[in-house]
Amino acid sequence: MSAKRDYYEVLGVSKNSTPDEIKFQYRKMALKFHPDKNKSPDATEHFKEISEAYAVLSDSEKRKLYDAYGHSGVDGKYSTEDIFQGSKDNFEDIFGGGFDSVFESIFGRGGGFRFGGFDFGGSGRARGSDIMYETALTLEEALKGKQEEIELPRLINCENCNGSGCTPGTSMRTCSVCNGQGQVRTSRSSGFSTFVTVQPCNTCRGQGKIIERPCSKCKGVGKQKATRKFSFEIPPGVEDGEYRIQDEGELIPNGMSGDLIVRIRVKPHDKFKRDGADIFYDAHISMTDATLGRTIMAETLEGAEKLDVESGSQPNTIIKLKGKGLPRQSGRGRGDEYVRLVVDIPTKLDKHQRKLLEELKDSFNRNQ
Ligand SMILES: [Zn+2]
Ligand SMILES: [Zn+2]
Repeated sequence: MSAKRDYYEVLGVSKNSTPDEIKFQYRKMALKFHPDKNKSPDATEHFKEISEAYAVLSDSEKRKLYDAYGHSGVDGKYSTEDIFQGSKDNFEDIFGGGFDSVFESIFGRGGGFRFGGFDFGGSGRARGSDIMYETALTLEEALKGKQEEIELPRLINCENCNGSGCTPGTSMRTCSVCNGQGQVRTSRSSGFSTFVTVQPCNTCRGQGKIIERPCSKCKGVGKQKATRKFSFEIPPGVEDGEYRIQDEGELIPNGMSGDLIVRIRVKPHDKFKRDGADIFYDAHISMTDATLGRTIMAETLEGAEKLDVESGSQPNTIIKLKGKGLPRQSGRGRGDEYVRLVVDIPTKLDKHQRKLLEELKDSFNRNQ
């Protein structure tokens, strides 16, 4: 990680600036570099930098610490999360509330404060990527729900070094800088106060131990990638959309897991149209059946079903089959099926049929 720049310099203010001047300057820069507005590749990086500077300088306690001891004074006492959360009110003042959403978009998403994918050094933990899984269901499968089993990556101990990270036959040695503690404490006195700062040991990167000859296969990480089976339930009545399953995404050593994102698409059906939990079906009947009435077989998602067409049914009459739709997403009951009667008018008649229809026409005309 490169050396941090001076907070005053980052914001372009002086050490004597008043809180209002600092606020004014940060607001100006935040508007310019907010990644929602600024699409240049380092806008996010820059926004993080000015936000961190503002988080510290807008908090009188932390500003004092910074003025006295610089970055180590603040970083030794506060985690990055503390720095931001501690100045939450100052940020909400600027962004008009929505602290979480502003910083979610910068640091990752969900669950309050996650430093997704960003290396903040010290307290920030890296996070694995999200894994996208796409699946398409038939309407019949959407009716019943479905159990899916997929393969996802996972980390297992490196086969070469059994997870130690060391070349087989060698071992780790205790870090002599921190005596295996993984942390280095320094204290400085200022008047009557003593500030103790605790920082991760740079020599062993906080591990307390040092690998002298890293395993050639895992480069000292001790892990290797493998796969695992993962099964999950797609609930009955599911609709198109993306569903997030937390922490089932990519894993990285010593980091947080990404999420699994399941993208579900319900395939179009050749017989039914769907609107939420309801389905729509066209039943084709002849004009004589519409006129005389008849019991027909109407398709449902669970097979054909008898349906009485009354005599004198008009074209496009809709008959509701209650509860023959899909389970409602709310979990309460099922939608309905709407059967529309489509009356087919014959386009070809043989001689005999034409004669009968002519007679029928004459009969209608006589009775008019
Ligand atoms: Zn050490
Ligand atoms: Zn290894």
